[in-house]
Amino acid sequence: AELSALLHSRIRDVPDYPEPGVMFKDITPLLADPSAFTALTDALAEFCVANGATKVVGLEARGFILGAPVAVRAGLGFIPVRKAGKLPGATLSQSYDLEYGSAEIEVHAEDLVAGDRVMVIDDVLATGGTAEASVRLIRRAGAEVAGIAVLMELGFLGGRERLLPALDGAPLDAL
Ligand code: IMP
Repeated sequence: AELSALLHSRIRDVPDYPEPGVMFKDITPLLADPSAFTALTDALAEFCVANGATKVVGLEARGFILGAPVAVRAGLGFIPVRKAGKLPGATLSQSYDLEYGSAEIEVHAEDLVAGDRVMVIDDVLATGGTAEASVRLIRRAGAEVAGIAVLMELGFLGGRERLLPALDGAPLDAL
């Protein structure tokens, strides 16, 4: 509860960004505060270890900022899941629906193999579309999903409910 309060106090609400009517959760004040950033990194790393993760996947772009120090802290490799067209090697890709149109994410095919237990890390769980696509991508690579860990969940958007069937029992933690 103390950790949640600290983290919450370092997240800034930005109204009407990136478009009118949206309240954007900005994590840059948290990143700029070394004690909050360290506490977040430690808690996420603990969650990785507690769930037997062998690799950390970070979702572009803020999932990179959070996931990389977590991987180092937990002693695990870091794997970037990127928007389509950004990774130079052979990739697996997964598309998913947005409110208007669709999006596509990719991972280097050689980075995930059978026997891996992957923890997915991102800053915000909103509709759950990005996280759900990452779960599909990880499973298609032959790896297992150890769980999903986010800093913050926007509960009113129903991401958790959407993710539940895809998670297949793997834990979803929002700090
Ligand atoms: P979803 O696919 O709808 O769950 O959206 C999640 C993705 O959008 C994550 O990669 C987030 O980084 C990003 N996102 C959505 N809303 C916010 C926000 O309020 N602040 C920061 N990132 C957000």
